[in-house]
Amino acid sequence: MGKPTGFMEFARQDAPKRPAKERIHDYREIEQMLPEEDLRRQAARCMDCGIPYCHAHGCPVENLIPDWNDMVYRGQWRKALELLHATNNFPEITGRVCPAPCETSCTLSINEPAVTIRQIERQIAERGWQEGWTLPQPATHKSGRRAAVIGSGPAGLAAAQQLARRGHEVVVYEKADRVGGILRYGIPDFKLEKWVIDRRLEQMKAEGVFFETKVDAGADISAGYLRRSFDAIVLAAGSRVPRDLTVPGRELKGIHFAMDYLTQQNRRVAGDSIPPGEEITAFKKKVLVIGGGDTGSDCVGNARRQGAMEIHQIEILDQPPDERAGNNPWPNWPLILRTSSSHEEGCRRAWSVTTRDFVGEEGGGEEGPLCQGEVGRREWGLPAAGRLRLRVRDRGGPRPPRHGLRPPRARSPRPGHGARDRRPRQRRRRRGPRHHRAGPLRRRGLRHGRFPRRTLHQPGATRRRGRRPLSPQQMTGS
Ligand SMILES: Cc1cc2nc3c(=O)[nH]c(=O)nc-3n(C[C@H](O)[C@H](O)[C@H](O)COP(=O)(O)OP(=O)(O)OC[C@H]3O[C@@H](n4cnc5c(N)ncnc54)[C@H](O)[C@@H]3O)c2cc1C
Ligand code: SF4
Repeated sequence: MGKPTGFMEFARQDAPKRPAKERIHDYREIEQMLPEEDLRRQAARCMDCGIPYCHAHGCPVENLIPDWNDMVYRGQWRKALELLHATNNFPEITGRVCPAPCETSCTLSINEPAVTIRQIERQIAERGWQEGWTLPQPATHKSGRRAAVIGSGPAGLAAAQQLARRGHEVVVYEKADRVGGILRYGIPDFKLEKWVIDRRLEQMKAEGVFFETKVDAGADISAGYLRRSFDAIVLAAGSRVPRDLTVPGRELKGIHFAMDYLTQQNRRVAGDSIPPGEEITAFKKKVLVIGGGDTGSDCVGNARRQGAMEIHQIEILDQPPDERAGNNPWPNWPLILRTSSSHEEGCRRAWSVTTRDFVGEEGGGEEGPLCQGEVGRREWGLPAAGRLRLRVRDRGGPRPPRHGLRPPRARSPRPGHGARDRRPRQRRRRRGPRHHRAGPLRRRGLRHGRFPRRTLHQPGATRRRGRRPLSPQQMTGS
């Protein structure tokens, strides 16, 4: 522990960002570096906890965070770099784009702003490159074995580097025309400039890793070929299956998957030209981004730089609180409102909004018809047995939307779907999902349709309600 009183003396200082007015005209990185003295003060804030939650609970690769914080405070940058590389192949990348669960689980964050761990990581890594300390580490002896890695995203690249350093001959097969996976063709340049990846690839080539691009394993080369030619095969193909919205009007022009849009822009920044007719651009358009997560935020940032007239972003979940809720305590990942650099650049956000359909006319204008999402207000209910359910809040009918979106169309009455059921009482009872029918729930004084009946029969189900925190996976239903 460098400075026992560090966290009491120094306030958290985040790395400066380029002003929004300037950065929306280019795709260069937004975050800048802290001066060395300021960074050392930030490292001095680390308390070197007996049980470092940043390392043991927060960091997925178990970075030796308190140790390299201490080294930075003492000015021992090279030692800090060695400690950083002991657990992490690409700290210059995680230092830029990691969501930093280490910071949200930092002990200091119980009642103070956390240590600026991600920024310290980034600057140690960059110092290593500047000083020429980050060099290829070719294996001292060859094992005589061969390994194939399918996919060149961060998972494949890290595996390839580790295998090559163990003396194995490694070939990385990538079906795209460039190496990097989503680092290359998903994350925008304003978060991660691509020379950062290229610099690391040069190091890997010098360590003996071979890269073969435009090779679709399974199509261009068979599994049989791979098994005959290699002693081991690493499958790191990632997932490129988008989650579709199967609502009426989805087939209209002008509705795109995020990855198609983001990939195209990264290609443009890399100097590629997009064939006419395939271009997706937000220039002079009103843009609606469906989904309030990081990928949606990346789309917002791209749309702003492409010159969109208006950008809206909608999210099906309720607006998160500004601070942790009682059932979401430290050191778990905080489910709180986050405002990304793209949001700062200008975007209107709305929560509790679900897409019912898209409306428009096919063939209206050069760019296709204007597609609009219709919105209805909903909230997620926390169920007794810890499973996710959707509860309709506005039984009285559709609500006016926020932020100028088109008002929802009147719907035919169906129980539990936003409109009041006006059918005769007896018919009403016989229709709708089982747990929406009136019956024992009402006799127990519970609200109609609030719990599926089966959850009430589970022992202890009602006792646990509201106490058990939901994981992000449970929250999103994935
Ligand atoms: C838009 C977007 C933004 C993101 N931003 C962040 C962020 O800021 N911070 C963060 O921590 N995470 C972010 N993520 C998540 C992160 O990018 C992924 O978790 C990570 O890239 C997964 O790495 P991977 O190596 O498993 O797969 P990928 O990066 O998807 O790489 C898989 C590679 O395998 C290739 N491949 C697939 N099939 C074959 C085949 N048959 N033959 C040869 N090659 C094949 C693909 O072309 C691809 O290049 C983001 C994700 C997206 C989509
Ligand atoms: S939890 Fe925070 S204060 Fe404790 S060792 Fe990690 S970075 Fe330092």
